[in-house]
Amino acid sequence: MSTIFTKIINREIPADIVYETENVLAFRDINPQAPTHILIIPKIEIPTVMDLKPEHSGIVSELFTVANKIAVQEKISEEGFRIVINCGPKGGQEVYHLHLHLLGGRQMTWPAG
Ligand code: AMP
Repeated sequence: MSTIFTKIINREIPADIVYETENVLAFRDINPQAPTHILIIPKIEIPTVMDLKPEHSGIVSELFTVANKIAVQEKISEEGFRIVINCGPKGGQEVYHLHLHLLGGRQMTWPAG
């Protein structure tokens, strides 16, 4: 089942894209929860963490490599940031296309709500 993120990948709807590789796309969240709030997604459709299989290990690694590069690009690599993955209804997931939230530019608190 495709989501709105597939439409962003296919350039059918606009997004503020900040980074792209052959396998990964990153764009600013439309409803930012921090000064820097970027979504990092695989171009292939993987709904949730629970759909990950061993053959996805390369793409999962690349999601984090891209997060590392964007943190430098956004100048939050030294002060720190947070990466969040929501999974399923109680995890607060709204879009069923796997994504990292990269959040930075303010002090994060714990526990998360
Ligand atoms: P989640 O709740 O983890 O599934 O996160 C989904 C995120 O996608 C939310 O933070 C939304 O604000 C964001 N979002 C939904 N539609 C768009 C869009 N068209 N462009 C950018 N971000 C979006």
